[in-house]
Amino acid sequence: MPPADCSFCPESVLPGRIDESRIVHKEGKISIVPNYGSLATPGYVILVPERHVVNFKELPREEYGSYLGAVDYVDSIVGPDSIHFQHIGTGYGKTIDHAHEHVVPGIPFGDFRDKTRELLDSLSGETGLKYKYFEHKRDPSLSLQKMSIGIPSPDKGALYFYGDALQGIFLLEGEPNPKYSAILRKVSAEILGVPELADWKAVRNTEVLRRADDEIMRETARMFGKEIS
Ligand SMILES: [Zn+2]
Repeated sequence: MPPADCSFCPESVLPGRIDESRIVHKEGKISIVPNYGSLATPGYVILVPERHVVNFKELPREEYGSYLGAVDYVDSIVGPDSIHFQHIGTGYGKTIDHAHEHVVPGIPFGDFRDKTRELLDSLSGETGLKYKYFEHKRDPSLSLQKMSIGIPSPDKGALYFYGDALQGIFLLEGEPNPKYSAILRKVSAEILGVPELADWKAVRNTEVLRRADDEIMRETARMFGKEIS
């Protein structure tokens, strides 16, 4: 994808791109940005590398180090009771083909794991998609290959998340399907009691919801000591 057509690339020309006015902190070449579709949760941010890569692990070593620094920095602001998640493998949940990690405060690891499993089980009857689940002690620096033997290809769909002390990965096996689009946002929205806000594009296209969303994003920015418009 050419950078001009990727809303997460600095060269983007798209509306809704990540430009300097939305960034609340930079750790090297990793930006921290209040997320469109905040799920009514102050502190919900995404971590986005400037470089267009599909997965963080493709970053050069120094930039990957900045990513790990950004993880620690966000945790120091939003508190330890937050869930971090990534969709890995386009078509299995990811809607933007540029690496990004969601950080949502107020979601316990176990609730997130169990609700994700529930949703995957309910969909698998329709789609035939199967999954495996792996759980480890938290260590965001571990690659998926190192975390779990038996992953044939990192391009295979995976839902990767971590919380306070643990990290988990759902490895999806089957054809990519739009039903899995933004599935971890749906899980988060359900746990936070705002399922109607799961679809961020619908939120941004509805004036009253967009205004409320903008206010939450301003609140998030203030947690990071920034004012955004
Ligand atoms: Zn990009």
